[in-house]
Amino acid sequence: MPSFGAGQENKRTRLILLGTKGGPRVSEDRKNPSTLLLINGTPYLVDCGYGASRQLLAAGVLIEKLRYIFITHHHSDHNLEYGALLNNAWATGSPMRVDAYGPPGLEKMTHDFFEYLKFDIETRIVDEGRPDLRKLVAVHEFDKAGLVLQNDDVKVSSCLVRHPPIKQAYAYRFDAKDRSIVISGDTAYSPELAIFAKGADVLVHEVMYLPAIEALLKRVPTAGRLREHLLAAHTVPEDVGKVAAAAGVKTLVLSHFVPGDDPSITDEQWSEGVRKFFKGRIIVGKDLMEI
Ligand SMILES: [Zn+2]
Ligand SMILES: [Zn+2]
Repeated sequence: MPSFGAGQENKRTRLILLGTKGGPRVSEDRKNPSTLLLINGTPYLVDCGYGASRQLLAAGVLIEKLRYIFITHHHSDHNLEYGALLNNAWATGSPMRVDAYGPPGLEKMTHDFFEYLKFDIETRIVDEGRPDLRKLVAVHEFDKAGLVLQNDDVKVSSCLVRHPPIKQAYAYRFDAKDRSIVISGDTAYSPELAIFAKGADVLVHEVMYLPAIEALLKRVPTAGRLREHLLAAHTVPEDVGKVAAAAGVKTLVLSHFVPGDDPSITDEQWSEGVRKFFKGRIIVGKDLMEI
């Protein structure tokens, strides 16, 4: 990574994991999925799992500075706090504009959230002289892979990944001036993701640890169906290693841990399967870790 003088610090592309637990359950340790990039000082947020607002604050980002949101897919661990985050940014009273990108459903979800909060929004417009939240958010839906956004600082593109039964699930790639970073989103083993991530500096990839899944399943009543879903929709460490190796990335960051609330699984256990195939740097992600 290039080095920067103090004055250049803001221009550096920073990657901060806000929530690294896969799945919708809320737990004490890891928070639900959300990943932050700060590019030239501007926050870009990938997914809004429950707790994203507080995790942004914990990472030292003022919520009202949030400028871009990217949703990978519409499982609730990735979008539950989307509307609440928009509201929290608006509630600060500072001027804001948010561009939100994601697969079909995002437009309706945004509209439905504004309906859910209609009384409060309209009360505060009249009573407190606030701008209309509904006019501060621009939604950009897409239903195929390609260029998502390009500005002076970064080019963002998407790749369709395999996350059955959801057909519209995407990975995002951020090509900034100093670094390129790929976020897998939720995906089963997707060799096409390796092509998409080719030559990236950092790949943040989801991971599932099979031996612990059995223990996890003992704790839930719908074990049979859940087992089927997990196996079809997520990636085991060995396959994460294959994708990272084929992509030739410098650094692989494991995140979206399934199960993400079993502290008995060590960092070594998360990474040993990966290392069989990938010889680069492996980071076992933690909430609020900066890479
Ligand atoms: Zn997920
Ligand atoms: Zn998912």
